[in-house]
Parts: sequence; C-alpha cells; structure tokens
Amino acid sequence: MDVSELYDPEFRKLIKSKKQTIIIPVGSLEQHGAHLPISTDSDIVTEVASRLAKKCKFIAFPTISYGISVEHEPLFNTSSDENGFTQYIMSVVASLAKNRIKSIIILNGHHGNIPIIEAIESSLVDSNIKLRSYSYWHFMKHEFDHAGFVETSIMLAISDKVKMKKAKMGLITKGMSEKEIQRINKLSTQPGGFPKVAKNGVWGDPTGATKKDGEKFLAEIVRNLAKECQS
Ligand SMILES: [Zn+2]
Repeated sequence: MDVSELYDPEFRKLIKSKKQTIIIPVGSLEQHGAHLPISTDSDIVTEVASRLAKKCKFIAFPTISYGISVEHEPLFNTSSDENGFTQYIMSVVASLAKNRIKSIIILNGHHGNIPIIEAIESSLVDSNIKLRSYSYWHFMKHEFDHAGFVETSIMLAISDKVKMKKAKMGLITKGMSEKEIQRINKLSTQPGGFPKVAKNGVWGDPTGATKKDGEKFLAEIVRNLAKECQS
C-alpha cells in the first residue's frame, strides 16, 4: 500500500487493530553524471520501497529526498548536516511510534547516508520500536556503481528521464591493485572526494545499460529484501 491511498479514520482503525510495518525510504539529491537526474537515488529507493510494500503488505511512506552527499562537492548536491539529518529522522520515528506504528524499515538509497542510518538503528535496539535499516544495493549480486551500468539500467526500467546519448564511461577500477582500490574507496567518501576519483561524476560504465537489466536487478533486490524482512 502507498501512503497516498490512506485516509484518516480508516487508517487509524487499521493501525489500532493490526500491527503495521511501514517503510521510510531515504534518498539523496546529487549529481549523477550528465545522463541521470539528480533525483536518481530518491527515485530508485522510492520504487524499491513501493515494490517491497506490495510484496510484503507493508506501507510505503513518502521518501526523505535529502541526504548527505557532500562527497560530490563541487558537483551539485543538496545535503543536510549529520546532526540535523539524525534529529529529523528520529523525530519522524518518534511521531510514528506515538501513532502506534512501532515496526519501521528505513530503506536507504544512498551510500553517504549509511553511518547515520546505522547509528539510528543501533540507538533503538533496546527500545520498544522495532526499526531495521537496509541499503537496497546490498541485496543484489552485481557490484554497485554510481551512474554506471547498474544505476543507469535501473533508471531505464523506472523512468523516462535517462539521456543515454549523454552517458559516458567514468571511473573503472578493474585491473587496479587492491591497495589502489582501497585508497580510491576511502577518498571517494570524503567531502569533495568523489570528483577527485571520478572526474565526470560517474563510477562505472553506463554505456551498455539496458532497461531489461534494470528490471532484472530490481526483481532480484525486491526478492532478496522481502526474504530478509520476513525472516
Ligand atoms: Zn546514486
């Protein structure tokens, strides 16, 4: 179910009578090369949440579309600071709990959000709120990228906003030493570090992306996530 299908008296009755699990998708607003919209992370995580909600009879709440993306400076990003981001999510969770919703999944769509979201999950372990957090790309076998083959394929499957003519190969780590890859991984997450390792803002090669591959990735992610959520 989607939040846009909920009406107050019925919804309050529903959460009173039966325990509901809700999903809060969390995305980001940041550069994704010249061929994908800056809303890419939020677009994908919204779609994954909606499919997961359908499959598991959860309720997908609206996406928090601002995350922490300062690693992309000076390329475009709109970021929250860590304290503000933590407090905002915590206050939303507390408000849900007040409304008898204590089973919550935070579905993350952006790498830079991970430390905050994991800290929130740990801080609630001993509370009466059952909150679990997942980053959707951990539920697929293929190595993830940034505006590369995987992300571009998924966007082709869910959006008509992809400009394939503008898709250009970015950073390719294949063939590099383990040590060099480690150095690049570390630098890419520092403020302003991403464009230092991937000059055009792309990690991977989007040029061979297809809608069919995107559908395959999405099906795999939702299948594996559903298994995890129901365990
Ligand atoms: Zn992304």
